[in-house]
Amino acid sequence: SKLNKSCLQQQSIKVYVRVRPLLKKELGQECIIKTDQQKYVVIEQSTHILKQEYDQVFDEQVSQAEIFKYISPTIHKALQGYNTTIMAYGQTGSGKTHTMFGSDWEYSLNISLGHQSTFIDDLQTDQNHAGMIPRTIYTLFNNLQQGYYVYCSFLQIYNEKIYDLLQDNKVPQALQIHESKTEGIYVEQLTEYAVNNLYDCLTLMKRGEKNRMIRQTTMNLKSSRSHTIFQLLIETSKADQGGQLLRSKINLCDLAGSEKINKQDSMSNAHLNELKSINQSLTTLGKVIQNLSQNNKNINKLPIPYRESKITRLLQDSLGGNTLTNIFVNVAPNIYNIDETANSLKFAQRAR
Ligand code: ADP
Ligand code: MG
Repeated sequence: SKLNKSCLQQQSIKVYVRVRPLLKKELGQECIIKTDQQKYVVIEQSTHILKQEYDQVFDEQVSQAEIFKYISPTIHKALQGYNTTIMAYGQTGSGKTHTMFGSDWEYSLNISLGHQSTFIDDLQTDQNHAGMIPRTIYTLFNNLQQGYYVYCSFLQIYNEKIYDLLQDNKVPQALQIHESKTEGIYVEQLTEYAVNNLYDCLTLMKRGEKNRMIRQTTMNLKSSRSHTIFQLLIETSKADQGGQLLRSKINLCDLAGSEKINKQDSMSNAHLNELKSINQSLTTLGKVIQNLSQNNKNINKLPIPYRESKITRLLQDSLGGNTLTNIFVNVAPNIYNIDETANSLKFAQRAR
């Protein structure tokens, strides 16, 4: 962000691994992913033996409220002008949506209709399963000073095309990414709603979710095959010493499932293309994050291939530069998923 141009380059990438509990249908199965001191992931199977260190490792017992404590400093940085990205990576069913949105946020929204304070009090308890997005919004508004304005967008990237989730048309138009000196990277014609509180944002989230469900049928846009990004733009009319306006972005991403194409699966060409474009965009995301992380440690700077996928191009000014990135790598605990878990952990290691 412009506010910090004169300051020292600060860029940080934090990688968290989160292990979900066994699902009802998996009960009785053995959990083969062990954690140690909230820092290490340990696997001791004949096919896979590893002990890897991360910024933080959360086992199935760690609550959403507890996990958000690691995210909230990032929200405070966003209020100081840093562009930030919080994302969840992992195979379908590993807990990405649970981590980002929460499992019952819609239920929470419904009970909070007219009872906003109840929802907010309840956010602090371990029993509330609202994810990082509602908690981020709550923290943002709780710390917002006068003269600051927040705008909200909600979009989906599917097959390398960007769709607005806040436009209520069944077959939406694909939107283009642009870059300008004043606004940085932006999506042309993407709806940006001015929002004043958590409730406004949850209402938009609900609307986007409804559009996503409708398009899932009319356009066959499976959400597990698309990246979903909830974006908050913070602006103030107050200028810094350099006379620049403060603008910063918080990008909250629920990424497409990272599972590999299974060659035995019989599938249509359309389906195959869909999987290839996901693999391509997640591979590019991995490369971008890996090179950024390498560049933090080395003097020789590697090129960053932002333009090789829509998601990395869209996040370009929120991953590189004066930015903070938090990556959740979600994994399932059981042996059945071990190959995909190992692949997700590879992604996580490269990001460090
Ligand atoms: P993904 O978005 O990666 O496909 P989901 O978030 O939908 O996965 O999670 C799959 C299932 O596991 C859901 O039923 C969700 O409620 C449950 N789940 C995931 N993580 C947790 C968790 N930490 N605690 C309890 N349930 C979880
Ligand atoms: Mg999901």
